[in-house]
Amino acid sequence: MAEAARLIRSGGLVAFATETVYGLGADATSPEAVAKIYAAKGRPSFNPLIAHVTGLDAAERQGRFSPDAIRLAQAFWPGPLTLVVPVADSASVCELARAGLPTVALRAPAHPVAQALLAEVGRPVAAPSANRSGRVSPVTADHVLEDLADRIDAVLDAGPTDVGLESTIVACLDGPPVLLRPGGVARGRIEALVGPL
Ligand code: AMP
Ligand code: MG
Repeated sequence: MAEAARLIRSGGLVAFATETVYGLGADATSPEAVAKIYAAKGRPSFNPLIAHVTGLDAAERQGRFSPDAIRLAQAFWPGPLTLVVPVADSASVCELARAGLPTVALRAPAHPVAQALLAEVGRPVAAPSANRSGRVSPVTADHVLEDLADRIDAVLDAGPTDVGLESTIVACLDGPPVLLRPGGVARGRIEALVGPL
């Protein structure tokens, strides 16, 4: 864990388990590190990344949370929910991770390995699924290595992940929350808190 955190803090790529799929992690505050994610995956840099944080306190340094966004984070974090919110003045997530947008996608994952890594890194970690673009999202460390062995610095093997579904993405910007992608948290559970999406 210490070595994985050191690699990320020094600009490397480390794959790690979340409760959804394995993520390909890099320091979200470093454009050089984030560029390595896009290159390793063959992902176009206009497709923004989710920044992973330990919880709402860390997230509120990166984004501006409306009352609905706070309600959703309190209900579903840590867990498979990503919130897209306006970027905060105090944000450290770099523009490249946001693909130049004035908004930022944030998630606090529940997996203990992801939580431990984020705490040790002490910075937001950009982490799309740890596969080359267009391939299936990996749910084991072996799947990660089949796709990316020669392109990453390490993988933290925590066995198979639980859900295999991606995170649900909800935008909380001006106006009512909007569902951007269905995923691990069911739409109905979100609507029960903030009304129809
Ligand atoms: P993934 O491809 O699973 O890494 O999920 C990342 C997805 O989150 C992107 O493809 C976008 O659809 C969405 N996303 C990330 N950041 C933003 C943002 N600032 N605004 C809208 N959607 C975003
Ligand atoms: Mg993916």
